[in-house]
Amino acid sequence: MDAVDKILVIDDSPVQTEFLTSILKPDYEITACHTAEAGLRTAKEGGFSLILLDVVMPEMDGFTLLRELKGTELTRYVPVILLTSLTDIQYEERGLLLGAVDYVTKPFSPVIIKARVNAHIQLYHYQMQFRRQAMVDELTGVANRRRYEEEYPVRWREAIRFGLPFSICMFDIDKFKLYNDTFGHPAGDQVIAAVAKTAASYFQRSTDLFARYGGEEFVALFLGSEGRTAFEFLKTVRQAVEELHLQHNSPVSPWVTISVGGVTVVPTTEHSPEEFLQRADAMLYDAKNFGRNMVVWCDESHRQLRER
Ligand code: GH3
Ligand code: MG
Ligand code: MG
Repeated sequence: MDAVDKILVIDDSPVQTEFLTSILKPDYEITACHTAEAGLRTAKEGGFSLILLDVVMPEMDGFTLLRELKGTELTRYVPVILLTSLTDIQYEERGLLLGAVDYVTKPFSPVIIKARVNAHIQLYHYQMQFRRQAMVDELTGVANRRRYEEEYPVRWREAIRFGLPFSICMFDIDKFKLYNDTFGHPAGDQVIAAVAKTAASYFQRSTDLFARYGGEEFVALFLGSEGRTAFEFLKTVRQAVEELHLQHNSPVSPWVTISVGGVTVVPTTEHSPEEFLQRADAMLYDAKNFGRNMVVWCDESHRQLRER
């Protein structure tokens, strides 16, 4: 059974919020706020499937709030229905242009409110499901390249804002062409899925991102570890993959192995994320050249760490 959808109602009039609550309460969980500031704070806590927003409020108005909601990652996709009175009719156009999905005019018809709310919540769920599918790699179930491309700049900016060390690493299955040639492509697919599952289990924090970069290559982003710690951590991941004991007949090992290249920095606005991806890739290249089944890391002082 699905959880009950949560709706946020933002209106300075308690009479209006109570009325809306009484209309929607049987089917939804309602949170009411009476100022735009409180509404914004509450919306950013997340978990809402819809926001009902009064346009005319003292202090911050509904438009300013709407712009904030559409500019914030966590609330961007939550549908907003504007609450307007007949005299506010000139505002509707502006609200819709700013990204509101719909509006209802006061005084409310309970039937119309309910019908519109139901329809937009359903659309919201379809949209979210579609977005989820578009961001997941089909073979492995981990994040795909598109998701990574979308998230990398966001995480990078977060690292700058928090002043925390940020790590990016690339890894690649060793001698995988040989694996396919020996065991066949379908068996190769299973290896990619198994390696992804094992590695993904090490990147479970909310600030981690693990994605399939393409083919037999993966990328991981994580926050808050010093270079040395990040290096040791990836050695654990490398070892876990080898210890899956997936049979291979490569010159590297009797088992399927990975080579890992990574870099840790405390990013500033002077750095570019592309440059760091390139450095991680250069470390991976070194790991391959130094014999594979290895982790090569570039730490904050540009020292290269290299070990199995
Ligand atoms: P290295 O140790 O230098 O990484 O050697 P490699 O053979 O792994 O590298 P190379 O880039 O030459 O080959 C990668 C192989 O991965 C070739 C390609 O057929 C295989 N591959 C890429 N994507 C998939 C996939 O989705 N499924 C399977 N089964 N194989 C894939
Ligand atoms: Mg490759
Ligand atoms: Mg490879």
